[in-house]
Amino acid sequence: MSDWRKSAACAGYDPELWFPGNSQLMRREAIHICHTCPVMMQCRKYAETNNQICGYPLQGIWGGKEFTPRKYRRRIPR
Ligand code: SF4
Repeated sequence: MSDWRKSAACAGYDPELWFPGNSQLMRREAIHICHTCPVMMQCRKYAETNNQICGYPLQGIWGGKEFTPRKYRRRIPR
């Protein structure tokens, strides 16, 4: 993994914010922080090109966009 994460705007925040579940407030706050992030496009690209992180399906908010395992499955060509 490249070191773009060293510039992440989310560093120092509770990571749970990027896994908001049903909380619109948490979702809005995380996406707002992402839009201030200097590495937003690198982060989004990473999420769009990796369907697993440490063996688990990628999910949560990355690069200002929410990913769920189900959404990702639809994007995999059959
Ligand atoms: S775009 Fe969002 S999730 Fe990605 S590194 Fe930046 S703040 Fe974190």
